[in-house]
Amino acid sequence: MLHFDDIVFGPISSRRLGSSLGVNILPSKGKLCNFDCVYCECGWNKDGTADRRFPTYEEVVAAFEEKMSSLSAEGVKVDSITFSGNGEPTMHPDFPEIVDAVLRCRDRFFPDAKVSVLSNAFLVGRPSVAQALRRVDNPILKIDASSDELVRQINKPVGPYRLEDIIAALKGFDGNFILQTMFLRSDEFDTAAPEALQKWMDIVRELRPREIMVYTIDRETPDKSLGKYTVEEMTAFVQPLLDEGYKIQIRG
Ligand code: SF4
Repeated sequence: MLHFDDIVFGPISSRRLGSSLGVNILPSKGKLCNFDCVYCECGWNKDGTADRRFPTYEEVVAAFEEKMSSLSAEGVKVDSITFSGNGEPTMHPDFPEIVDAVLRCRDRFFPDAKVSVLSNAFLVGRPSVAQALRRVDNPILKIDASSDELVRQINKPVGPYRLEDIIAALKGFDGNFILQTMFLRSDEFDTAAPEALQKWMDIVRELRPREIMVYTIDRETPDKSLGKYTVEEMTAFVQPLLDEGYKIQIRG
């Protein structure tokens, strides 16, 4: 399974993001998340218990500043900085302060670089988390399932999660976020079954995200019974939203 040992990793080159730096503010040796998605590239939570220590604010800021300053001195360009890694970044107790420090450092060394956060949106009802997410260029927030039952099957939240509350909190973004949705199926569920798909599109229309990313299983997953969809299938699923003018990236 995929794990990030360093707080700052990269830069790696990607067609979509250019020269991209990753920031992992989760424990370095195992996964820590308030979801336990059946498709998680970091494996199950129960297998990631080797390390429960978040890097401190000071450690994150020192590692990030050092990396940014050395890349700048070497003349290496940074186009994007993404919070991702071994779990859910908003679980870090100092997430808002770390976001602000990263934004300040970005402004100093690579003012044109875009800062993104990949989050499952579980904690978006917390004002300090929502405000921090709204300060970055690209809050990329996950809704895979359109009912609490599907959420339980796919994302397996650790603790109380109500889709209704998440949607209410996301309305506060006024559409200024990127919605990320994984389409997948198994013997027990299918996120693209007609009723589930209709409900998901209703959620999209309620939240009006400025952009949507839909994707499917790519790498190894902890649950081996999962099925993926093709780009053509996913394009057909989201066609009504494309017709309504939504900007949608579809990745197979
Ligand atoms: S939200 Fe992300 S890190 Fe957490 S379990 Fe799901 S895929 Fe893994």
